[in-house]
This record gives sequence, C-alpha cells and structure tokens, in this order.
Amino acid sequence: MSVLVYAENTGGSCKKSAYEAVTFGHKLATILNTPCIAVTFGNPSNADQLGVYGATEVRNINPGIDHFDGQVFAAAIAIVSEAVDAQIIVMSHSAQGKSMAGRLAIKLKAGLVSAVNAIPAMTGNFLVTKSVYSGKAVATIEMLASKKVITVQGNSIPPEKAGEPVSLQTMDISLPESKIKVTQLEKQSDTIPLPEAELVVSGGRGLKGPENWGIIEELAHELGAATACSRPVADSGWRPHHEHVGQTGVAIRPNLYIAIGISGAIQHLGGVNNSKTIVVINKDPEAPFFKAADYGVIGDLFEVVPRLTEAVKKFKSASK
Ligand SMILES: Cc1cc2nc3c(=O)[nH]c(=O)nc-3n(C[C@H](O)[C@H](O)[C@H](O)COP(=O)(O)OP(=O)(O)OC[C@H]3O[C@@H](n4cnc5c(N)ncnc54)[C@H](O)[C@@H]3O)c2cc1C
Repeated sequence: MSVLVYAENTGGSCKKSAYEAVTFGHKLATILNTPCIAVTFGNPSNADQLGVYGATEVRNINPGIDHFDGQVFAAAIAIVSEAVDAQIIVMSHSAQGKSMAGRLAIKLKAGLVSAVNAIPAMTGNFLVTKSVYSGKAVATIEMLASKKVITVQGNSIPPEKAGEPVSLQTMDISLPESKIKVTQLEKQSDTIPLPEAELVVSGGRGLKGPENWGIIEELAHELGAATACSRPVADSGWRPHHEHVGQTGVAIRPNLYIAIGISGAIQHLGGVNNSKTIVVINKDPEAPFFKAADYGVIGDLFEVVPRLTEAVKKFKSASK
C-alpha cells in the first residue's frame, strides 16, 4: 500500500501547491506507515525537491503532449496508482486537480472528497474536513471506500521539509491519445496566480472605473501581491474575469486580503473569508465587510490607498 501524490508543475517546475500536496501525502503516509510516492509529468527541473517535502520516490511520466489534458493525465495516474498499489491519491484543489479527481475516482472506484483543509484525523475511521456553506461551517466527512481520492485546498497545509532530494524514475507507460488540441495559449507573464498568492489586493466598484486601477496595481506591486476584484468589476469589463473572487469566482485563502472599495456582500465573502488576515478600506462605516475584517480603515480609498503605498515604500527602503 502507498499514498500517491500528483505533483503539479508549471513551465517545467513544481509549484508551491505541489509541496503542499506532498506535505499532506507525507503526513498521511507517516500515520499509515506507508511510503509517499509523488508522480510528475514532463520531467520538472526541481522534481527532486519533492523528496525534501517527504516523497520517498518520484515517478515521472513523459505524456507526449505539451499541454495539460485531464483525461490523459488521469489515465496515467490511474496506471501509476495500480503499479504502486496506492490506496490514497492526493492532488491540489487546482484547475488540474479538479479536472482529474472525479475521473480518477470513477476509474479506480474510489471515494472522493475535494478541497480538504487539514490532515485527516485517524481515530479508527478515515475522517477528513472541509470548509462548507461559503466558509461558515466545517464539514467532517468519513471516507468509507478502500481507495480514496483527495484534493487539498490551497494555502491550508503549509509545506514542511521532511527529507532529502530524490532522483526521478521515469515510467514508460502507454497512454490514450489526447482528444483535445490547444490551438493558442496566452500566458500572463509577470502576474502572481490568484489561487497561490499569499498576499492579495482586491478592488470593488468603489474604484469608480478601470482608469483608477493603477492605485490597486501599485500597492500590489509594492507588496508583491496578486490583484483581485469583485464580480461587478469583472462583469463590467474593468478587470479580467480570472481576477473575480467570491462564491462564483475564485475561492482564495491568502495570508493577507486587502479589500478596497468592496461592500462585503455574502457572495463576495464566500470566496475570501478563509483569508488569514482581512483588511478593509471603505468610506462607509456601515459596510458589511467591516464585520469580517481583522483591520478596517474608514476613509476615501483615493486618499488612503496612495498613503498606504507610500508607507510600504518607505518601510521597504528603510529595511534595506
Ligand atoms: C448568485 C450571485 C453570485 C454572486 N457572486 C459573486 C462573487 O462571486 N463575487 C462577488 O464579488 N460578488 C458576487 N455577487 C455580487 C454581490 O452580491 C455584490 O453585488 C458584489 O460583491 C458587490 O460588489 P462591490 O462590493 O464591488 O460593489 P458595491 O456593492 O457597489 O460596493 C462598493 C463599495 O465601495 C465603497 N466605496 C465607494 N466609494 C468609495 C471610496 N471613494 N472610498 C472607499 N470606499 C468606497 C462603498 O461604500 C461600497 O461599500 C453575486 C451575486 C449573486 C446574485
């Protein structure tokens, strides 16, 4: 028996979410006294580091395609899981993980719980927890099937070093042909992907228009943060849709979420209220967001935000 972890990579190197998933898999494997084996695709340059986070072996597959394909990758992971006798398959709750987890569960006749946010309690039963009702409650779920597929919520399991680098073992397996063809890929080069961001600066309708977004971007740049927005901002075309956070947008759990000119509607809070620290800047003292805030500034964002950015700049140059 083993725990198999799919370690995602982008642009040829494993991401923080891969280390989170491996940390989760390693802790689970330690409790179950089994090996934690990682699987990667396409020879990521830093895959040996998965050993540092607790993988005892890293299996690599060269899928023969240069894009992610949930059908092909899930088929490959199913083959690897049989080869290493995996009872538990772990992956990040990312677009890739979400695309594969259901497929894998069907292929392996496994139970599936997505967006798990803590190491399972092993009190005789296999119990996992996840946040539900837009973060208002925590559900504890018992996984009854002997095979289990788990996706791990981003930013909920801090990566922890637990071993030494390991060398990759390439597996030669025959895979189904891809049924899709990527005809164009436009990458956003210098932006931090929202689901992985530890710091997020987010703007709402209080910004009045896209022409004012510079103050959000400048603060985000100084902090090294990703930018996000409320849904009406994306719907109005002020910002791209992938920046929209909330119940119907991206759900995030950064260490710091700065909400600027956002009222704090329940649908918005649903995607951000698991953030570790929330700072709200709003001119209306009755704005509902203040109830969810750790720190609040009541004031005009057009005065407060530039002053905050200046303060961050001064702090950074003083600490050089
Ligand atoms: C089914 C459904 C799903 C939805 N899903 C989402 C979702 O996923 N994400 C989401 O965000 N919304 C979602 N919504 C929309 C949500 O209900 C709210 O309408 C939306 O979040 C409001 O966006 P906002 O806070 O930017 O705008 P507003 O509610 O208009 O708030 C603007 C805020 O800016 C403040 N402000 C204005 N000027 C200034 C200034 N100069 N300085 C400081 N503060 C200022 C105001 O006091 C106000 O609080 C959904 C709605 C529905 C019905």
